[in-house]
Amino acid sequence: MKIEKLEYIPIAIDRSQVFKIATGSELTAENVMVKVHGEDKVGWGNASPNSVTDETTESILKAIKSMKKDIEGRDIDIEEFWMEQREKLPDDRAALAGVDIALYDLKAKIEGKRVFELFEGREKGIVTDRTIGIVSRGETVEQAREFMSQGFKALKIKIGLDLFGDIRRLQSIREEVSPTLDMWVDANQGYTVQESFTLCQKLNDLDIEFIEQPVMVGDEEGLKEVSLRSDIPIMADESIKDHKDAERICYNDMANLINIKLMKCSGITGGRKIVDVLEDYGVNAMVGCMGEVVPSLAAAAHLHMTSGNIRYADLDSHFMLSDNITSGFEFKEGRLWTLDQPGLGIDILEDKVEEYKMGLDAE
Ligand SMILES: [Mg+2]
Repeated sequence: MKIEKLEYIPIAIDRSQVFKIATGSELTAENVMVKVHGEDKVGWGNASPNSVTDETTESILKAIKSMKKDIEGRDIDIEEFWMEQREKLPDDRAALAGVDIALYDLKAKIEGKRVFELFEGREKGIVTDRTIGIVSRGETVEQAREFMSQGFKALKIKIGLDLFGDIRRLQSIREEVSPTLDMWVDANQGYTVQESFTLCQKLNDLDIEFIEQPVMVGDEEGLKEVSLRSDIPIMADESIKDHKDAERICYNDMANLINIKLMKCSGITGGRKIVDVLEDYGVNAMVGCMGEVVPSLAAAAHLHMTSGNIRYADLDSHFMLSDNITSGFEFKEGRLWTLDQPGLGIDILEDKVEEYKMGLDAE
């Protein structure tokens, strides 16, 4: 695939509400849009700065500028380019994700296929949760009711700052909102191993689907201990960035489930490498997101469609933004759908991209 040009555009969109989790709060979502041109088509992707891969908008711009030099005018194979850049820029995972996603959108458009078809996937509507940040018990109940009325079939509740307060928040959803709603829980590394044991025990009769990352990244023995002793499945998130981490976690039985995020694993190429590991070990996964705009969420939805081992989707970051820079990523009766057209199946609203453009450039 011959690449003629790569453009990058940093954008900032306000969140519709402050989103608080165990590791911090955020008011705006910054993303770097990536646009690649080749063979008379255009592909789009985006990179999202985040604390998990320790990337900022500035570092992403710098990395993409370097990739631009390496790709323009070249005839590339996506996976070869990906491997070359992983080696060259090992710390710029989200930046590479943005470029990788744009390249797959372009490749699929050139071949007249939808992205999941490049991997022999099958179309489906993706059930996504809606996330409730760390808020009071009353607000938790109120938001849970609101999201259910919007059609969401699953809720992910952020916890990790107040063990017994968190348990009460979760009990309140069961008692006051719904006895049957799918409930997922994310502690974002907020607890010690001992607190995690207490949490798992106290939540046992609440029918919780899984608990994400109860303990600190790096405490892999702790994660393993909690996973072995908990009756509720434990999902690794911050502890797994790429297929090498997935291999280590699966081989050592450190977690029951894996959270794949394209920003951590450097895009669709990295996501597919994780899926290969999970399929070998028979481990299931979720696709997640972090403060992303729609192209990378649509890419994660396509990845979901390529493997039966991906069972869950937490693709809701666009619902938390005050505006949308795309059309075509529809939410209907609890499920997300991409358009039946080549590529990622979304349309970029370029005037919106222009409207939210930041006055930044790579150094
Ligand atoms: Mg998480």
